[in-house]
Amino acid sequence: MMASPFDLRIAIIGAGMGGLGCALSLAKKGFKHISVYEAAADLGFVGAGIQMAPNMARILDRLGCWGEIEKEATNVQETSIRQGSSDTELAHVDMSGIQALYDYPHCTGHRSSLAGGLYKACQAEPAIQFHFSTALVSVDRFEPRPVFRVRKRVPKVTNGTNGANGTNGAAHGEASNEDTTVEVDILLGADGIKSATRDNMLGALGLTTEEADTGQASYRIMLSRDQMAGDEEMMRLMDSNLVVRWIGERRHIIAYPVANKTVYNLSSAQPDINFAEAPSATYTTRGSKSAMLKVYEDFCPLVQRMLNMVPEGEVCEWRLRQHRELPTWSHGSVGLLGDACHPTLPHLSQGAAMAIEDGAVLAEVLSRVTPDDQTASIRRCLKTYELLRKERTSMLVDMAYHSGRALHLGEGAAREERDRQFAAHKADGKKAIPDKWASPDVQKMIYSYDCVAETEAEFDTLYASVQ
Ligand SMILES: Cc1cc2nc3c(=O)[nH]c(=O)nc-3n(C[C@H](O)[C@H](O)[C@H](O)COP(=O)(O)OP(=O)(O)OC[C@H]3O[C@@H](n4cnc5c(N)ncnc54)[C@H](O)[C@@H]3O)c2cc1C
Repeated sequence: MMASPFDLRIAIIGAGMGGLGCALSLAKKGFKHISVYEAAADLGFVGAGIQMAPNMARILDRLGCWGEIEKEATNVQETSIRQGSSDTELAHVDMSGIQALYDYPHCTGHRSSLAGGLYKACQAEPAIQFHFSTALVSVDRFEPRPVFRVRKRVPKVTNGTNGANGTNGAAHGEASNEDTTVEVDILLGADGIKSATRDNMLGALGLTTEEADTGQASYRIMLSRDQMAGDEEMMRLMDSNLVVRWIGERRHIIAYPVANKTVYNLSSAQPDINFAEAPSATYTTRGSKSAMLKVYEDFCPLVQRMLNMVPEGEVCEWRLRQHRELPTWSHGSVGLLGDACHPTLPHLSQGAAMAIEDGAVLAEVLSRVTPDDQTASIRRCLKTYELLRKERTSMLVDMAYHSGRALHLGEGAAREERDRQFAAHKADGKKAIPDKWASPDVQKMIYSYDCVAETEAEFDTLYASVQ
């Protein structure tokens, strides 16, 4: 029997925003043995902008890493929703009061700054061990102590000699694999949308996960200050504290400055044409510049000029994915967090925020594992975590989906009604707007939420309700 929950051995699969946030939350709470297994050789894909809402900043501040991340971030003061074709403003939302209302600002930043800030803070915690180039292969037991297999990719040492075809073997990805079996007290799957932890878990329960067809894909573009210099209109955007959303039928682009205003980030959503034929093969691809320009050909000249700046061969397109609500987030002593259990469309800019909140809640609930019948207590704590998180995350996932639908309306009565609501907000800045991300009522609901306070208030009742 273990005397303290803080002696529990916890493994986290994935070092994305969810995995890093969870590891740090656990370490700050006092857990002493946390291992993070990441398939990539380093922090993985970090090349794009991200919005960091006050509910995320609140947690990062408690974890001691917000100050560094905030230094490079843009403190958003206003947002403008515009007709993509004409650049005409449909709504303008003043966000200058966000910090006063919610104690934290709404910021935009570079993903590498957020991931790097979290990682640096994790590295300062002796309790956290990272295992890069190490992928989860299977989960072979779920309780009493989870057992899983990981595969470490070991690059071949070539001593700088070239292979028979004149190329360096390591550079071509030749590597050997070393499999290891690991046993822990708790296994947490933060392995993102393609989660192997989730698939193993649901498989063991005889359940499956169903992908909800979003029909959408996203271009992610970063323009440097140097690229934009010389275009006054663009430089006004780069030097602003403004988020702009250009909307059109079945498409939109959201854009904002990041990285101390040295980079202008654009992220789009449009019909998924390139991936639709290959639903399970790949989710990121090099897109064609001419195809991208075609999708946005009727957007205004300002947007056209920006898209034209993307170098040929550097168009990156992502498939936007979502799942139907999972039947369960845990099995025995194995639990899921982040995109592994509630992947979302990005239209509310809350995916990473929800993943980081999950980690904070997990640290709280697991610190309440009792020493008597510890296995049952871990199982109940993971169920309690699900009860604390599922309703809210499902609501936000749903809201992101519906907000996207409203943004993408084509000609007709529904769009006229939407634009009437935008106009009503212009007349009275407090009214709700159809772009839920920018709507003051939705901001209040999302940004004022303190997941740790809720856990403290609700834990005992919810824990008593689960077996
Ligand atoms: C276009 C777009 C824009 C977005 N904008 C925002 C925004 O502005 N604000 C916001 O809060 N969110 C945003 N999101 C959502 C956000 O990016 C995700 O919700 C968030 O990154 C999920 O974090 P995660 O840690 O759960 O998963 P991921 O970030 O996907 O991390 C999973 C990690 O697990 C690793 N992994 C996978 N399989 C294995 C394995 N078998 N073994 C070991 N490791 C494994 C992966 O390499 C990866 O590092 C956006 C998403 C998109 C697509």
